Amino acid sequence: MKHAAMIIDGKPAEAAATREAINPYTGRAWATIPDASAADVGTAVAAADRAFRENWRRTPGVERARLMHALADALVAEAEPMATMESTDNGKIIRETSSQMLFAARNLRFFAGYADKLYGRTIPLDNPSVFDYTRRRPFGVAALITAWNSPIGLLANKLPPALATGNTVVIKPSEHASVTTCELARLACEVGFPPGVINVVTGGPAAGEALITDPAVAKISFTGGSATGIHIAETAARRLVPVTLELGGKSPNIIFDDADLDRAIVGAVSGIFAAAGQTCVAGSRLLVHRPVYERVVTAIAERAAAIRLGDPLDPATEMGPVANEPQYQRILGLIEAARAEGAVLVAGGGRAEGPGLADGLFIAPTVFADVRPDMRIAAEEVFGPVLSVIPFEDEDEAVRIANGVEYGLAAAVWSRNIDRVYRVVDQLEVGSVWVNTYRSTAAQAPFGGVKRSGYGRERGEDALAEYTYTQNVMTDWSGAARDPFVIRT
Ligand code: NAD
Repeated sequence: MKHAAMIIDGKPAEAAATREAINPYTGRAWATIPDASAADVGTAVAAADRAFRENWRRTPGVERARLMHALADALVAEAEPMATMESTDNGKIIRETSSQMLFAARNLRFFAGYADKLYGRTIPLDNPSVFDYTRRRPFGVAALITAWNSPIGLLANKLPPALATGNTVVIKPSEHASVTTCELARLACEVGFPPGVINVVTGGPAAGEALITDPAVAKISFTGGSATGIHIAETAARRLVPVTLELGGKSPNIIFDDADLDRAIVGAVSGIFAAAGQTCVAGSRLLVHRPVYERVVTAIAERAAAIRLGDPLDPATEMGPVANEPQYQRILGLIEAARAEGAVLVAGGGRAEGPGLADGLFIAPTVFADVRPDMRIAAEEVFGPVLSVIPFEDEDEAVRIANGVEYGLAAAVWSRNIDRVYRVVDQLEVGSVWVNTYRSTAAQAPFGGVKRSGYGRERGEDALAEYTYTQNVMTDWSGAARDPFVIRT
């Protein structure tokens, strides 16, 4: 059985207790990870604090960039074993985890490009003999906490901007999928990152709590559920620590009658069944214009029934098991609730049966039609392969339903009418909008939510602001005497 050690101060580290990592395809433990105590977390934060003060904040940007590129190279070289480990840990298909390793390397390179370009400004003041300039300064130790659905993919949104801007980090991956994060930190040691710059502690909520309450943590970036995010924001507020929150979603995928329906249906399938629906941006509400409603429902139900379930490590598999038992039970519970509320089941509807599926946490790709916006299945995040199809009559109704949930992460609009597209996009209260595509992503494009989906932005230039504060410097070079009791302008 594999064992993944934590990385603290540049070395592998163990805890008094360990946890088992369960492979959701076989139902068996495949690895062990340390279960960090509060003292272990404190040791990691102290190492990160020391590395920040004594080393990383003074390391020139060009050297930070060199190390980040070296880590990207190592990740590309190790992409296959890393993807295999991640698929074993959380059941995501190997095609997806492989592409996520490469995307993580791309993000490292994108932000490495900024490490030596963190320019401030010179600001002309009313008084010409006062020189004013700004600097972008790192906060110090950043706590990076991630969810189980895409450990490296989510970390790739946080670690690169944190490092590029001169912060050191303590990462806490989810207790349900920690192995690849430990491996990434091990690679970072191998390519020469100074001890303490990148630390990983493993464990559950108790380890996370020790991290967010450590007095030396100066910044928190969190990806996970909204309830945990709210708790973290409340806790951080007591010390006024800045927080970035990437939380849940209930994203509307809106198909108008003038859309290219073949592409829209592929987009709808990708939106909800890719990664077995375990993505924050899952297009879990399919809003369909009445004139094409029956056609779309029939096509989606057929496509859902044809999805190939199986071993996540088999390149032919289209959907793996869901990642862990609590999540599996939660999804089954929400399917039952939808049935009880009168949603019309047109595909799936429970556990998937079939050859090779018996030991895994498989849910059949599920489609409910005639869902009403007031049903639980239309309002709550499922985080599984369950689609709610909701009909609408016109643009106003589509926008009203789209915005009528607590979340505001993403949305998509399918239409060939350019005026309609701009009109609808203008009214959507979400952080990301796709037009005639779904789940597209780029290192350059900012990503994040509004409402219960969180705040702050990851990726793109916007992410630099999450890990820096502006320091303004005024220098009076006039040598003139001043009245001490009057404000100087
Ligand atoms: P979760 O909130 O249960 O856990 C996320 C992380 O927080 C884990 O590492 C967990 O150990 C840690 N944690 C739990 N309690 C903590 C505490 N008190 N203090 C500090 N850390 C604590 O979420 P999950 O079940 O792992 O992930 C699923 C959720 O993540 C879904 O709601 C999904 O939408 C969301 N998600 C969001 C995005 C995004 O970018 N917006 C991406 C992926 C997943």
